[in-house]
Amino acid sequence: MSEDMKVFENLESEVRSYVRSFPTIFTKTKGSKMWDNKGNTYIDFFSGAGALNYGHNDEHMKQKLIDYILSDGITHSLDMASEAKAQFLTAFNTIILEPRNMDYKIMFPGPTGTNTVESALKLARKVTGRTEVISFTNGFHGMTLGALSVTGNSAKREGAGIPLQNVSTMPYDNYVDNQSSINFIERFLEDNGSGVAIPAAMILETVQGEGGINAASFEWMKEIEALCKRWGILLIVDEVQAGVGRTGSFFSFEPAGIKPDIICMSKSLSGYGLPFAATLIRPEIDQFAPGEHNGTFRGNNHAFITATAALDYWKDNKLGARVNHLATKTEDFLNDLVIRYPKLQGEVRGRGLMTGVACGVKDLANKITAKAFELGLIMETAGAKDEVFKLFPALTISDEELGTGLKIIEKSVELVLE
Ligand code: PMP
Repeated sequence: MSEDMKVFENLESEVRSYVRSFPTIFTKTKGSKMWDNKGNTYIDFFSGAGALNYGHNDEHMKQKLIDYILSDGITHSLDMASEAKAQFLTAFNTIILEPRNMDYKIMFPGPTGTNTVESALKLARKVTGRTEVISFTNGFHGMTLGALSVTGNSAKREGAGIPLQNVSTMPYDNYVDNQSSINFIERFLEDNGSGVAIPAAMILETVQGEGGINAASFEWMKEIEALCKRWGILLIVDEVQAGVGRTGSFFSFEPAGIKPDIICMSKSLSGYGLPFAATLIRPEIDQFAPGEHNGTFRGNNHAFITATAALDYWKDNKLGARVNHLATKTEDFLNDLVIRYPKLQGEVRGRGLMTGVACGVKDLANKITAKAFELGLIMETAGAKDEVFKLFPALTISDEELGTGLKIIEKSVELVLE
């Protein structure tokens, strides 16, 4: 360990996991590049776990934020009306909701992804008067009691003794080979005796980010929606990681043609990496009483400023088409990689710029990401056993930077398998 890293070792608690994965002190970022205090440059294929879809320190958003701060614009206003909030609401409506014919109310549940999930679970229970929720194998929804109880990862729950209280974990798409999980779920619902009460909601990700880059088929999502309708169950889609363009459309569920009852958004919604979350609610079920779900830091005005600029960016730069272009390059590269390196026992997964390779050999994905870091690429692992190395570049990355990152992955694979 270098001398200057000792401050983390000596003073910080054991929770410092990224300090261990990326053992250096970062000083500066721009676009898809990060620099450390030794002058090393890194390509960022991590993007703050999906919070930096527009890259680091975008010039336009930065300038808007600086102008706003210099004008003494409101920073903190709880849930009061502010000009920054009005601008965001208008932009979100005209750029995102109206063109898609989507009729939703928007609430600001608190600053994080977990907060939007909590608000969704609470609302679904209130609206239906039921307490059960169906979640899915390998789903990830956050770290608080409620969000963690619908997270399909017992390792994250067990230490804190968080049970699957009022939650049934059902098989996600393709969890069981050649068998539709829809029939399985329906059978449980019909068979009350097995202990699955009719739930208030189902909560799912369209592509499971933390759980291993598992992409559900559009067909499966449609069938889930139909099943929810048949049983009067509310459908919550957690867009925290897969949303805001990551998979090529602004909402990741758009190509499936489904209409969730509640949509959870956070991470890249602010565009600039600021804490920000929103819950979209079908107007008919907007039943929170005033003050029933609140929090001191909901609706951060600085985030409203950058989020509005980010929506303009999304519209003006046709970012969706750019994602598809970059995704094709990435996928071609990964498909080729797993063929050329059979020792990886690799399976390419994902959709859009949310891709990864599941490695059939224990610990290999961790070794590859560690080697990639040495060679100047920041990348994370995913999956219950960290079996997937995960490619999460900014949607704004240049072709050249993407190419450099992919070459580092190839070199890392080669060196680790040597
Ligand atoms: N839902 C999903 C799908 C996520 O990926 C995450 C974070 N990785 C969360 C919820 C929780 O978000 P946060 O960490 O901002 O609370």
